[in-house]
Amino acid sequence: MGWFNEAYRGTPPWDIGRPQGEIVRLAQSGEIQGTVLDVGCGTGENSLFLAAKGHEVWGIDSAPLAIEKAKLKARERHAKVRFLVHDALDLSDMGRVFDSVIDSGLFHVLSDEERVAYSRGLAKVLKPGGRYFVLCFSDKEPNDGGPRRITQAEIRKTFGEGWTINYIRETRFDSTFNGHVPFAWIASITRT
Ligand code: SAH
Repeated sequence: MGWFNEAYRGTPPWDIGRPQGEIVRLAQSGEIQGTVLDVGCGTGENSLFLAAKGHEVWGIDSAPLAIEKAKLKARERHAKVRFLVHDALDLSDMGRVFDSVIDSGLFHVLSDEERVAYSRGLAKVLKPGGRYFVLCFSDKEPNDGGPRRITQAEIRKTFGEGWTINYIRETRFDSTFNGHVPFAWIASITRT
């Protein structure tokens, strides 16, 4: 993931210095429970927010520079989050399981083949009954460029057998993309 690592030499547009509003909402509604894995955590704002709410959190990202920045924030804020350089396509070797997984902006960068490996790994790293929350670009996003556009049908196809889709709702990312706020889906999916 060289491209992402290079992006973290500066401040990429998604790296907004605060948690995504949907992650805040999920925490406040009590939907995010117990131990949390933040997959593709970037510089860690969502992880750090959930840790401050009392969750035990691990954040993983394949970009070493993102993890370096996340660790620095954790030290500065006296927060206990375990940030690791780790590939989201190798979740089965994490060596532990979690109650919840959050994904803010990772799913929409994966290829069709990668989605298959990713969902298999998620099933291994989540406890039965645990939930996966994904925030991704939606097919309602009209602008060019950026990550892939995701349809509700693609989410349902990736998380078929072994999963229950609790909801897929329309929302927006809290970032600016080509001068406007991108259309997104937030989905809650239980590992059955
Ligand atoms: N969750 C963060 C970052 C979103 S950008 C936020 O909300 O700000 C997507 C992130 O996924 C980037 O940090 C990128 O480095 C990471 N990523 C991309 N492919 C990955 C992979 N295969 N394994 C782990 N992280 C990956």
